[in-house]
Amino acid sequence: MKRITDIHLASSDTCTGCSACASVCPTESISMKIDREGFLQPCIDTKTCIGCHRCEKICPAINAIIKNDFVSHAYNAQTSDEYALNKSSSGGAFYELSRYIIEKEGVVFGVKFDGIHVQHDYAETLEDVEAFMGSKYIQSEIGNTFKIAKSFLDQGRWVLYTGTPCQIAGFKRYLNRDYDKLIMVDLICHGVPSPGIWEKYIQRLMRRIDAGDIKDIRFRIKDIGEGGRNNFYFFFFFFLRDQQWHSYGEERMKNLFYAYFTRHLFRASCYQCPYRDMNISYADITIGDYVASVQRLERDISSTVIVHTKKGEDVVQKVSEHLGVFTPLQDIFVNAYYEEARNAEQTERNIRPYKLSNRLAMIFPLEYIRWIWMHDRFDVVLKRKIKKLWQKNIK
Ligand SMILES: Cc1cc2nc3c(=O)[nH]c(=O)nc-3n(C[C@H](O)[C@H](O)[C@H](O)COP(=O)(O)OP(=O)(O)OC[C@H]3O[C@@H](n4cnc5c(N)ncnc54)[C@H](O)[C@@H]3O)c2cc1C
Ligand code: SF4
Ligand code: SF4
Ligand code: SF4
Repeated sequence: MKRITDIHLASSDTCTGCSACASVCPTESISMKIDREGFLQPCIDTKTCIGCHRCEKICPAINAIIKNDFVSHAYNAQTSDEYALNKSSSGGAFYELSRYIIEKEGVVFGVKFDGIHVQHDYAETLEDVEAFMGSKYIQSEIGNTFKIAKSFLDQGRWVLYTGTPCQIAGFKRYLNRDYDKLIMVDLICHGVPSPGIWEKYIQRLMRRIDAGDIKDIRFRIKDIGEGGRNNFYFFFFFFLRDQQWHSYGEERMKNLFYAYFTRHLFRASCYQCPYRDMNISYADITIGDYVASVQRLERDISSTVIVHTKKGEDVVQKVSEHLGVFTPLQDIFVNAYYEEARNAEQTERNIRPYKLSNRLAMIFPLEYIRWIWMHDRFDVVLKRKIKKLWQKNIK
């Protein structure tokens, strides 16, 4: 049988790992495999590929961006539900949007932990939505959720699909048509750390503290410890050892994964990401932190809600009763963490050193290579170290 070899998907530097190509392939010839930096990349089985080129036509990274002519605008919002506010990373906008969909007997798609693994899944009750609440600062695995969401939509059910802007771009291109009962929500996103590195890091930590079976992991926790932005636990988990419950947490400034995360060691596509631009979002609504409340060091950070479509605006107005404070924001760029997300040293120029640093982190324990991301420019530091070593040897 002739092997199909002329399929050209996005390069490993521009591929976002959205999984749209794998979801659309009629012969299931594309599998998402972990690369040397710990991210999922599509891999084509040329033995089973029939050369239909559907994967190429769907890929958001190699096709022209679809522009939306609706004038996006933003609100500041906070849920009036005290429990939901504590569990959410920001003001609980996600929870209120989910509540709206669940009340319509719809389905909510979001990101949860399965043990230490971060993945997309769906929920049909508010109780199950809880697992999606709170940011998980690792790239999630889409799995077959695009296909499942499409089948719910085809059955005429309401669907809320949430994810990073590139995942929503992939989902929109995968569907290739509008559905009245679909609400797509993306996040203000400054990039995603590697799931491979995260799993290596957490497994090592679990061995060190002798943690048995992990039951729940939470980032940016608000309801434990002192709270507040100056002193929050970056992540916290609960585990079962000898049939007893234990918990473990580290404040953000002492946490190694936080140091890794703040050095912007993200997926290569995050350094040239077009989806973060508010005028390009494929979603109906974007949610993020509200920067003014963060600056005031409020314990309960509120949300920025940016509306991109008429459908998004209608839904936001409907949930506003429960979203408490609901002030229109005059200037999205000043009031959201948007500008930070767009600028976070993420230029194409920075891809190589950060890719190398991720590769090293996949090989060595994070604490051994910590010095790499303690500096702004890894390549500058590396050159300086080599020069020093060279000079020492010459002397
Ligand atoms: C990787 C990442 C980077 C972010 N960067 C910024 C930023 O720079 N500036 C900013 O203002 N806000 C950022 N956010 C968004 C912010 O942290 C909150 O998620 C957002 O404000 C929504 O908060 P909430 O209180 O409404 O809901 P929450 O309950 O806190 O959020 C839950 C929502 O986040 C989704 N989610 C959680 N983890 C992931 C993940 N790994 N991938 C995809 N979706 C996920 C859930 O599915 C659900 O839809 C980021 C979020 C993530 C996951
Ligand atoms: S060309 Fe068609 S069959 Fe081949 S990998 Fe792409 S979608 Fe699958
Ligand atoms: S569709 Fe998504 S996962 Fe597939 S190549 Fe394009 S960006 Fe990568
Ligand atoms: S920065 Fe862009 S490419 Fe990276 S995860 Fe966010 S939306 Fe996707």
